[in-house]
Amino acid sequence: MKVLKFGGSSLKSGEGIRRVCKIIANDDEWKVVVVSAISGVTEELIAFVSQMRKEDEVEAFIKNMEEKHLALLNDFVKNGAVHKAACAKMKEKLLKLERALYGFSYLEELTPRTKDIVQSLGERLSVVLVAAALQDIGVKALGMDADELGIITDGVYGQASADLEATTKNIAPKIRAMFDRGETPVVTGFFGRTPEGHVTVFGRNGSDYSASVIANCLNADALEIWKDVDGFMSVDPKIVKEAVPIDQLSYDEAAELSYFGAQVLHPRTVEPARMKNITILVKNTFKPELKGTMIKPSGVQRAQTIKSISFMKNMAIIKIFGAGAGYKTGVMSEISQKLTDADVNIYSAATSQTCIALLISKNDTARAEKALAKSKKGVVERIEIIDDIALLCVVGEGLGYEKGIAARVFTAVANEGVNVMMISAGASFVAYHFTVDKKDLERTIKAIHREFFN
Ligand code: ASP
Ligand code: MG
Repeated sequence: MKVLKFGGSSLKSGEGIRRVCKIIANDDEWKVVVVSAISGVTEELIAFVSQMRKEDEVEAFIKNMEEKHLALLNDFVKNGAVHKAACAKMKEKLLKLERALYGFSYLEELTPRTKDIVQSLGERLSVVLVAAALQDIGVKALGMDADELGIITDGVYGQASADLEATTKNIAPKIRAMFDRGETPVVTGFFGRTPEGHVTVFGRNGSDYSASVIANCLNADALEIWKDVDGFMSVDPKIVKEAVPIDQLSYDEAAELSYFGAQVLHPRTVEPARMKNITILVKNTFKPELKGTMIKPSGVQRAQTIKSISFMKNMAIIKIFGAGAGYKTGVMSEISQKLTDADVNIYSAATSQTCIALLISKNDTARAEKALAKSKKGVVERIEIIDDIALLCVVGEGLGYEKGIAARVFTAVANEGVNVMMISAGASFVAYHFTVDKKDLERTIKAIHREFFN
């Protein structure tokens, strides 16, 4: 039994949806299909509620959403009965969206709860399209919203995690019953609900994570993630045109690359699949003949020293000075608590006797400064921020057991005359990351890629 997930860019045209249907129909295994919103729709939903709106703006917005999805439906669904049923379902979903948006417009406030309800509508609509497209070619598909199916979350709005045990209890018997009836479930990605029924999303691009959660709960044999790229690459081909595709990654390698900037998988996708040793395959919907990248528990190719270089462009280092910052007990916990309360993610940390340096996203610097100003007396004497920082991450199992790899990385960087600021090695067995000035990013990436891949 398999879980197949299709991203929004695979669904944005009639041609894409036809390809998706073909991939599903040509695979004889029992499968659950998970879909994202049509690409661009989640952005539109978020943008719409990012400012106050009048009633007539809501009407126009709903009409636009309806037309966009209807155009796709008209493009590929030929069967009259299927078309009619899909239109009725779509109306039902749009009514839900309309109500949420009117509520928001009247109350003139956007609560995290409303925002998550609104965001979830993109997937609720795309599921109707994909299920109808499959029915149209004779597949017994059944569209399902994740909250209705019973994907349970911890209730953190905007960034929820799934409760795997509760979700398994809910979904396993339902999916089994659908398989018994010969049905192919098509499920919304991106969100679930709390036990009390509140819709909560898994964070942007969270449908990959949804699919991995479903694979875990159903003990799937494989999880396939279908996108509009060939899989993981040795580096971003927009920067280095000699980038090569990666056939295989270990769970750790894929997790590090996803966390540190490779935008192939949602960073938390690996977790649930790994717990059950489920193989993840990343494939291109538009080039299904390509191998893609296989992520699996063991048997990873270890011949190569490093496999990939990823990066994050908009980072900052926040340096926190205080007398004896390095040894005073509780300083680190005080600082990280303040930053956690302000919702600031720390990517890396280095401490010395007089200073604690933290790597954070550039967008978070103002919030971080404000939060740290509230810390206990004596903890923070002075703060320095260096922005325009880029983070590079070099990933490969080879880093953990081959000698001299780090030396080769840093020699290549030094030969470019690039200054390295923060380095983190050893936290992960398979990844080194370090920061450079943003203006040096591209040539640093090119130099490392040349060293290992030419
Ligand atoms: N539609 C959601 C987003 O764009 C989830 C996803 O695409 O995976 O973030
Ligand atoms: Mg998306």
